[in-house]
Amino acid sequence: MSASVRELGITLGEKCNFRCRHCATASQAPHELSPKEIGLIRDTIMEFGVKAVLLAGGEPTLYVAKANKILRGLPGLSGFRVRMTTNGHFGDSLGKAIKTLKSFIRLTSVQVSYDRYHAEFLPINNIANISQACKELGIDFSVSFCVSNPLDVALVAELKKIGSFRVGIQKVLPVGAAARNLLGYKHPSFDEGVLGKKCPRIGKMMYLGGCGFSVCCSSLVLGDKKKVFSHPTLQGHMESLFYRLITGKTFKGIAKFLKVPETSLEPIHSDPCTLCSYLFLGKNAETLFT
Ligand code: SF4
Ligand code: SF4
Repeated sequence: MSASVRELGITLGEKCNFRCRHCATASQAPHELSPKEIGLIRDTIMEFGVKAVLLAGGEPTLYVAKANKILRGLPGLSGFRVRMTTNGHFGDSLGKAIKTLKSFIRLTSVQVSYDRYHAEFLPINNIANISQACKELGIDFSVSFCVSNPLDVALVAELKKIGSFRVGIQKVLPVGAAARNLLGYKHPSFDEGVLGKKCPRIGKMMYLGGCGFSVCCSSLVLGDKKKVFSHPTLQGHMESLFYRLITGKTFKGIAKFLKVPETSLEPIHSDPCTLCSYLFLGKNAETLFT
């Protein structure tokens, strides 16, 4: 193993029963993992000694059987961590929440996505039920909250009224439906501090259904260049120029390598993923990443 993988994220399938206006992953032709892909994921988990997986989608609770096929019988399952991000649609009663969570072979952590766009589909009481269900089942619980402007944080106060759990705040990226609906977070000016940062995903990997493995779970693999920045095997991905640049250099170093002038950066590039996609999807990178 050439590098350690703290967590392998798996997009089980792209179907979702919500239609959020800021969705980064919405697809016209949703892919679902094939039996061959499930075998590949299981082999990779064992080969690389992966000790944690993230079940993602789409909406992962629509793919319980596929998740369990991956997890069933993995050696060392007792020390294994299984995290899921979900839209929480199944939390309309405590009983249903418990039944859904128990349908997975083993969950150790659940994160419900909630913000003003999810709130158009998800009653806040679902979060209270899922939080309580997790408490009863001994599962860690948190909420992931996306903001497109600072005023959105007011909704976090509503969440705090229904229980005491962690709320992670992220910014809406201008990707997918969010880009089409002009919902990306608006930065007032370019924050130069981002140039000294590296990809926040280093140490984690994704398996992207229909494509392969990538360190990226964001802008670069949510558009039509998915296959450029992923590889059919995890080892192949780790040996790629893209992976070496992402893990070896700060964004300043990557900009220099790709000969992208820092003077061309704008307020929107203050976010690591937006800057990253500007660098890797720009003209200078075309010959290296096509
Ligand atoms: S943001 Fe999540 S819950 Fe909303 S449509 Fe996209 S995948 Fe579904
Ligand atoms: S877009 Fe770049 S910084 Fe963001 S997760 Fe992907 S590789 Fe990392």
